Amino acid sequence: MRQLLLSVSIAAALGLVATGCQRNQNPAPAAAAPAAPAAAAEKIVDEHSYAQPDQVRTTDLALDLAIDFDSRTIGGTATYALDWVDKSATQLVLDTRDLAIDKAEGQTADGKWEPLKFALSDKDKVLGSALTIETPNRPAKVRVTYATSPEASGLQWLAPSMTEGKQTPFMFSQSQQIHARSWVPLQDTPQIRFTYSAHVKSPADVMVLMSADNDPKAARDGDYSFKMPQKIPSYLLAIAAGDLVFKPIGERSGVWAEPAMVDKAVAEFDDTEKMIDAAEGLYGPYRWGRYDLLVLPPSFPYGGMENPRLTFATPTVIVGDKSLVSLIAHELAHSWSGNLVTFATDKDSWLNEGTTTYVQSRITEALYGRDMAAMEEVIDRDELKGEFKTLDPKLQRLSLKPGTLADPDDQSSATVYTKGAWFLQFLEKRFGRAVFDPWLKGYFDHFAFQSITTSQFRDYLKANLIDKHPNVVTMEEVDQWLYEPGIPGNAPQVESGKFSTVNAARIAWQGSAKLPDKSITGAWGTQEWVHFLEGMPASLKPEQLQQLDEAYHFTGTPNGEIAMRWYPLAERSGYAAAREEMGKFLERVGRRKLILPVYKALVATPDGLAFAEQAFAKAKPATHPITAGSVEAIIAEAKAKAPAAPTAPAAPAEPPAK
Ligand SMILES: [Zn+2]
Repeated sequence: MRQLLLSVSIAAALGLVATGCQRNQNPAPAAAAPAAPAAAAEKIVDEHSYAQPDQVRTTDLALDLAIDFDSRTIGGTATYALDWVDKSATQLVLDTRDLAIDKAEGQTADGKWEPLKFALSDKDKVLGSALTIETPNRPAKVRVTYATSPEASGLQWLAPSMTEGKQTPFMFSQSQQIHARSWVPLQDTPQIRFTYSAHVKSPADVMVLMSADNDPKAARDGDYSFKMPQKIPSYLLAIAAGDLVFKPIGERSGVWAEPAMVDKAVAEFDDTEKMIDAAEGLYGPYRWGRYDLLVLPPSFPYGGMENPRLTFATPTVIVGDKSLVSLIAHELAHSWSGNLVTFATDKDSWLNEGTTTYVQSRITEALYGRDMAAMEEVIDRDELKGEFKTLDPKLQRLSLKPGTLADPDDQSSATVYTKGAWFLQFLEKRFGRAVFDPWLKGYFDHFAFQSITTSQFRDYLKANLIDKHPNVVTMEEVDQWLYEPGIPGNAPQVESGKFSTVNAARIAWQGSAKLPDKSITGAWGTQEWVHFLEGMPASLKPEQLQQLDEAYHFTGTPNGEIAMRWYPLAERSGYAAAREEMGKFLERVGRRKLILPVYKALVATPDGLAFAEQAFAKAKPATHPITAGSVEAIIAEAKAKAPAAPTAPAAPAEPPAK
């Protein structure tokens, strides 16, 4: 997933949102190389799944489902082809959350289905319920008949009034981190990769898409079939349904969106083919067939989600000037870093997001130049420096120790995305691109279609880079990056000449109240405005904010990257004039990265807390369950801290906000 930057100068746009991403992995060596001996040596424990991959592994999933918009449920069957790793195993344990299980059956040798006993455990708040199916004969296939709950954490159902076209309802999934289990019973751990197929029925006027072989020419008839022939981890299982039409960008890429949005999206994303070419030039062929984009409603909780063959993207990146398309670079990068080689457990998430953030920066540099990539790196690293001041050191390690994460949604994005990328930038700087680029390409090839641990990465790094090019980087340096909190002192720094100009303009204004010349600010894009605001002190005088607002119209900006920085500054500064538009922003946008900082600033005062509660009450009917959970946690934590607060429960650690 990924966050985004939005263009402030181009104002005409609609709502705003953000991106997100996620991670996974799997130890079973894939068909090709006899790679990864560590897979056998290392017992991989996923704390966030009930599955028992050392006993049985799903190799293929076949879904036969019907979508019911009236009851807001999906129901049908899931059939698993199973590889019984342990020949004495007698149970298949699946992850579920809020699913109604009707029956479980096993296939006999003559192809008939016979009922199997099953039990659903009590619900754990984070993990959901284990579905334990008794399989004394270890059938090659097991079939479960089930239905989802209207509250499924991985699905959002939108009434027609919440869509662009206002005619057709909309539904979409977000499976990462561990939400696939809320719409399909399955082994919900990235350790396990499987192929899948699906037959899905819907109302006839609804188009259904999945993270699979969507056909741009498919007839819209309410009866759809899909195949995903490459092995994926469960977090990449995805479905969407609504009034969706297709327009091509290039030969192997295009956009699915509501009719009112599709032309704007194609124009914004028309560099997609060039991005694929740039990534292939660095890391070898794109292995997934088509690369299409699905533009979702603004309630999508992330900036983007790298569902294979069909990236899900927020509409808030469509601002008219391509200033936010690093989101697409990020999601596309996952086609190598993540979807191809991903993490085995949430303790190794950096292998997915850190590597992807590195590759994203390389694609951005190839298309838009070093200046743009450098500005984005500075913004990310500034965010990290702020976050690390108060972040629990345990969460600052790239490789997390067991027991660190109660909920996989509680990762530090600064660690996983930015520190992870910074580590690879450190290696790149030391070895040089002539050595490092082929090494990284070789890494993607070596572990293709696998899910690995940090120690597997470390072994491969040592054998194929560190030892082959002695006296460049020591394993002590590597281990400091992987296993220690903070950023090592030898981390390479990045300079941005463009930001030097921004800094000078800000400092001059603070001293003299004289705004920078229009000839300077006229050339600024989103990144410069973000840096301009981020360099401000924690609070300013209301009249200073008013001066900025009159000149630059920050209040009411359609650019979420500006809004997420301006509204908290306004709130901390007691600039009440921003409140009305701030409320509209919170109501319209569902991307966590953009709105959580605003809520956090609001709940710092009793008056702000009351405003936050009102704003969220209005927004909630159209809010995604993942976002709602995050906002409710912030409000509950603030109320628990408040002296006269009522009975709010203690909130968990704050979630990452990509
Ligand atoms: Zn990502």
